[in-house]
Amino acid sequence: MRIAFLGLGIMGRPMASNLVKAGHEVCVWNRSARQHVDGAKTAVSPADAARECEVVWTCVSDTAAVERVMFGADGVEQSLHEGMIVVDSSTISPSATAKFAERIASKGVQWVDAPVTGSKIGAENAQLIFIAGGTPEAIEFLQPLFKSMGKMVIHVGSTGKGQSAKICMNLQIAMIYEGFAEGMVLARKLGVDPAKMVELIQASMIRSGVVDYKIPFVMRHDYSPNFPLRLMHKDIHLLLDTAKENRVKLPALETVDEIYELSSEEGWDDLDYAATIQLLEKWAGLSK
Ligand code: NAP
Repeated sequence: MRIAFLGLGIMGRPMASNLVKAGHEVCVWNRSARQHVDGAKTAVSPADAARECEVVWTCVSDTAAVERVMFGADGVEQSLHEGMIVVDSSTISPSATAKFAERIASKGVQWVDAPVTGSKIGAENAQLIFIAGGTPEAIEFLQPLFKSMGKMVIHVGSTGKGQSAKICMNLQIAMIYEGFAEGMVLARKLGVDPAKMVELIQASMIRSGVVDYKIPFVMRHDYSPNFPLRLMHKDIHLLLDTAKENRVKLPALETVDEIYELSSEEGWDDLDYAATIQLLEKWAGLSK
């Protein structure tokens, strides 16, 4: 299949590379021109990348970035043609997704939202889970591409439902990690060996995939970004905005947002969100 892949960050680069490895004809574009992917063509703009393609796949930071690559002066919109499918693996606003989908539908183009879970390691190992919203026909058509980059597609419903499910999932990731971090910090202050705490967590019913992923990094104080703090913070804001649009209250998430605000003020935006534990350690008077 001929695919334009837009956005070569932590997630996009290995995803595009896995499409190339699976034998697809891939043309990539990234805002900073230094990026390329072995075996793929490099385009000069999103419109240029999309021109000859059947599928345009985006994986950029946020709602504004998707709007820019799609509808900016040199955006994909210039190259839309009937029958094309746009797939967005960024995590963005469900309501903006609905508006973007409506705008391209007038050109006979379908929008599939397919945000992902699995983080950097899942993207590199083609083990992502896609959380998809769109028509069953479009999801079926895209199966070979999903298979090249991931292990599973959960078709949640119509366009926008993938983003809705994804942000609600990230709400839980942020809370699970916060619970882990607070428990670890208090345990340390009480003199419990962190390694013993980990042994207990992993042997018991509180074990979780989120914590399993993060434990090796936290134990060696390695906060290099798998999922950057600025992106989790962006998702917390997406959640709070979406909750407000829908008249839902999320009191615990509002508190977690404060932790991210203060972590951002510490200058940790480009570290992994696991770095938020450092704030709790500081408040508790604990050093590394
Ligand atoms: P990242 O490493 O920060 O990469 C972001 C990409 O977006 C880069 O290619 C960046 O281009 C591009 N970009 C940002 N603003 C742009 C703009 N205004 N116009 C055009 N391009 C722009 O992020 P990532 O970790 O790959 O995440 C990408 C998406 O996947 C995000 O929505 C994130 O929430 C979601 N996600 C991430 C993870 C994870 O674990 N990392 C897991 C699941 C979902 P430059 O190179 O020019 O900056």
